[in-house]
Amino acid sequence: MPVNTLIDTEKGLLHVLRPADGTLIEDLVVDDAARVAAKANQLRDAQPEWEAMGLEARTRWMERYRDWLLDHTHELAGIMQEEAGKVRTEAVLEQSWLHDIINTYSRKAPALLGDKRVKPGSPLLLGKRFTLVRRPHPLVGVIGPWNFPMVLCLGDGLPALFAGCAVLLKPSEVTPLAVRRAVEGWAEIGAPPVLDVVLGAGETGAALVDEVDYVQFTGSVATGQKIAERASKTITPVSLELGGKDPFLVLEGANLERAANCAVVGGFGNNGQVCISTERVYVQASVYDEFVAKVATKVKALRSGYDGPEIDADVGAMTSPAQIGIVEAHVNDAIAKGATVLTGGRREDKAGDWFQPTVVVDVDHTMRIMVEETFGPVLPIMKVADEAEAIRLANDSEFGLAASVFASSPREGERIARLLDAGTVNVDDYAIAAMCIDVPMGGWKKSGIGQRSADYGLTKFTRQKTISAPRVPTLDSEMWWFPYTPTKVGLVQKVMRFVNARGRARLGTPALKDLS
Ligand code: NAD
Repeated sequence: MPVNTLIDTEKGLLHVLRPADGTLIEDLVVDDAARVAAKANQLRDAQPEWEAMGLEARTRWMERYRDWLLDHTHELAGIMQEEAGKVRTEAVLEQSWLHDIINTYSRKAPALLGDKRVKPGSPLLLGKRFTLVRRPHPLVGVIGPWNFPMVLCLGDGLPALFAGCAVLLKPSEVTPLAVRRAVEGWAEIGAPPVLDVVLGAGETGAALVDEVDYVQFTGSVATGQKIAERASKTITPVSLELGGKDPFLVLEGANLERAANCAVVGGFGNNGQVCISTERVYVQASVYDEFVAKVATKVKALRSGYDGPEIDADVGAMTSPAQIGIVEAHVNDAIAKGATVLTGGRREDKAGDWFQPTVVVDVDHTMRIMVEETFGPVLPIMKVADEAEAIRLANDSEFGLAASVFASSPREGERIARLLDAGTVNVDDYAIAAMCIDVPMGGWKKSGIGQRSADYGLTKFTRQKTISAPRVPTLDSEMWWFPYTPTKVGLVQKVMRFVNARGRARLGTPALKDLS
């Protein structure tokens, strides 16, 4: 079997490889549909007690789990480095998002999950008390990608646990090990058995969709579509965080040094394998040459390598053998159509999944590199005449995940940010809005449905229920119940017109015979 064939369907095994050199880390047994169903049933059995213990008790478990995660940061980082090829800095920093999620929802959950009283606007309903309550979706399935193995699997599982759900995780078949270890951690602190993991690829994910009450998915548009279709068969709600082709605008008057530093980290952070990475740059003609020169110098200085625990590399290996093929195809397509490679441009001549950090200019929207998600260490830079052209090209995309704007001032940047079709826009920065758990992050257009973080990132894991109850002693019947009589209808109508009519012209009640 070729080394990068991940699933051995005959033996039911999943080969987990080191992207840094292509060697085998471990063989895992794939969870088939029966195994997924069995785990789902166990979680369903445990969920009612988890919900019934209440938010305060759940929060105590979540805080104990945060401490476990903090205590195991370097162990988890080491596992992620091996399975994802990440540099140590990024394998460590990724995890602080999880600690922040627990702390943020510890603070916010009581107000978000607690009952709410709603005072009716209509005086006709003043005799009723309306209460909104939330109950969890009993079993939430989280299907994750390989680029941020822990954050994009566990990061959505944690708010679901706060909400009182049981959670079944399905990490990517490329990077299952850190998530598996994190689930062991939940058991190690002695928490109730409401968090589990299934291992495997698309078939395991599809089986999970059939079993759960809510699907939280992060991954490609193509898989998102399959999941939405499958979930529609059982009317299971889905939240889809999908791909992006994030534009980065650099306009006259911008701080070019900061813009160049930001474009480089935006394009090459996590080797460009970030849904909100900088995928295409538009630079106003008057500052183009200076900006491009700065970027090229900085990219040439990036240290590529596998640094283990040492922290002496900036860019690691690419994580998925399949992805490196896409990156290569995009670069070659651009070159064939007239693009110029300023630095990089091809795979490294060594074992494993390595692609040189690459800067490409003379690009346009006829090239795949400017319109399809590349998801790798490539930064294409396009010269534009002015702000209007930059905005037009930025919005000329089927995606709408995030964007960055560097303009002459933050105020100018904000003005332009309002004109961009994207779920988050960062002025003088990249990715930062997605790092703030207090604000929502989600995609427009094909980049997704739903959002993570903020209020909705927690409440989506619940079902809302409206309860109405009398505030005053009730009568034996109501005016609008049977039997309908002219007197009752006339009276009710009189009151309703009095309440709803705006202006005297429609205040008077027409006789019943005139109503038709
Ligand atoms: P992918 O769609 O190939 O796989 C994602 C997950 O879906 C994996 O766990 C996979 O096993 C599972 N899967 C595959 N087929 C399935 C099926 N038929 N039913 C159920 N599950 C199935 O994506 P990937 O290559 O792992 O990740 C890269 C993609 O993820 C990129 O497009 C990237 O932009 C996107 N992404 C989006 C966000 C975001 O927040 N919007 C974040 C990170 C990554």
